[in-house]
Amino acid sequence: MFGMEPKYKRSLHRRAYTKQQNGHHEVCGVVVLNGDKIELEYCRNAAEGPLGFSITGEELERAKRRCWRQGKKFGGIFHSHPVSDAKPGQSDIKGALPNKIMMIYDVCGREAALWKVRIKNGERVLEHIQNINTGFHQ
Ligand SMILES: [Zn+2]
Repeated sequence: MFGMEPKYKRSLHRRAYTKQQNGHHEVCGVVVLNGDKIELEYCRNAAEGPLGFSITGEELERAKRRCWRQGKKFGGIFHSHPVSDAKPGQSDIKGALPNKIMMIYDVCGREAALWKVRIKNGERVLEHIQNINTGFHQ
């Protein structure tokens, strides 16, 4: 089971909520694994409009190098869903890095869900790993 320290939960909610209130935009970045603890490294969202995200290849490489330099592991990608639950849409599944964590944060439900897309016989197969609640009682 992966865990996330309260400071990462708080900043995730604060940043994702601010983007949501500001025209239904999404936050995105890199999931860094420090043992079984998830840390978040934010990236610029290069998507043009609301309800979407895009991380440039350059920015992704920079974020990966930063986590390796700190002796941590590149776990995958995260983004927020301003108005829908933490389930990946078709474009999320299509764009997911195979065998890496895809973390989606549901701003309204204050819940993060961890997914993994594997390629089986040429098909993308979605697997749910676990949820992480980020409510204030945490
Ligand atoms: Zn999404």
